[in-house]
Amino acid sequence: MKSANTAGQAFVREVNLSLVLRLIHTEAPLSRAQLAARTGLNKSTVSSLVEDLLDRNLIHETGVNSTGTGRPAMLLEINPQAGAIIGVELGVDFIAIVLTDFVGRILLRKNVAADPAASQEKTLDQALQLINEAICFCHDNGHQIFGLSFAIPGTVELNEGLLIFAPNLNWHNTPIRKIFSGQTGLKVFIENDANAAAIAEHLFGVAQELNDFIFVFAGVGLGGGLFLNGQLYRGRGGYAGEIGHTSIMAEPFQLPCRCGNLGCWETYASQESIIRRMKLRLGDKQNGSLSISLIKQAAVRGDENAIESIAEAGTAMGIGLAGLVNTFNPEKVIIGGPISVVGEYLLPSIQKSVSKYSMAEIAVQTEVCLSEFGADASLIGAAAIVVDDILRNPTHIVRR
Ligand SMILES: [Zn+2]
Repeated sequence: MKSANTAGQAFVREVNLSLVLRLIHTEAPLSRAQLAARTGLNKSTVSSLVEDLLDRNLIHETGVNSTGTGRPAMLLEINPQAGAIIGVELGVDFIAIVLTDFVGRILLRKNVAADPAASQEKTLDQALQLINEAICFCHDNGHQIFGLSFAIPGTVELNEGLLIFAPNLNWHNTPIRKIFSGQTGLKVFIENDANAAAIAEHLFGVAQELNDFIFVFAGVGLGGGLFLNGQLYRGRGGYAGEIGHTSIMAEPFQLPCRCGNLGCWETYASQESIIRRMKLRLGDKQNGSLSISLIKQAAVRGDENAIESIAEAGTAMGIGLAGLVNTFNPEKVIIGGPISVVGEYLLPSIQKSVSKYSMAEIAVQTEVCLSEFGADASLIGAAAIVVDDILRNPTHIVRR
């Protein structure tokens, strides 16, 4: 049996390995001496930790830093070829997968249409086919795989890898990890889509090194990834961030929401609300069905109805965001997800509305911006979940 002391030492070493790996991830290239200075650990400890990470092939030496007065030092950075990751997004009417390297660069990407009326079994089977294509690609190109990860439009249970409820798919209690680890032999991860997108921004996007930011995943609905005090905030049951279903308008202007409530924020600020506003403006002049991409095309042509419909939804989005800005005082609010198609037309009205409706002292401390990954935010987020797990627990890696 391990003594408490040995277990304690192993824990400290894991924490230090993670600390060094994370620093290399955010600040590379770095020398061993720079790592010692940045972590406060002594040089021999840092050297031993670096050797361990080199042996695990998670980092590599990238060249010599010969600037400055001291002895030239070997620089270290994350090894992009350390392992590949398969990310999956289960949309309402599509399935997307992405294969990335260890620094989030896309190696392969596939999209297929999915029938919202199809059985869960059929949709999962479609996903499996795409995953198998990515696995074959890895075998053919000599990539080892760290894991397979799902961004879910709903609530999840992380320990069991269970999808609890995805309202837009109408799936309940689906054992995603059990199903896909059985079929692929890969380590399977699962996360809510907005949370996954927040992790992607933190690791690879516009929120690197930020401790407090809010990611707003906007599409069919509005979901929030609350990244507070340097980590995701999940709340008691893992439901934190269900921002779309907070009421923002008083009677008599309340619209019914899919959740069964009235006046939910997302009914005024989602992609659907833009389409509804455009329909109202066009009235009898509308022919054919409207989509967000058609509205975008109209906005590009300078169509006032399209531009105003988007801006109105932006104002409504800003009203809800102002409450979050007052509550959490974030450094950034990042807008991403399918609504990014019209992001450039949406952003100015969101910014204006946030500064109008939140407290002035807080608003000036908050930047409202667009996601680095736009409509792909949760897909890249799925892959980012695996990278984040490895940065936390470098000794737990599995390659297949
Ligand atoms: Zn609702």
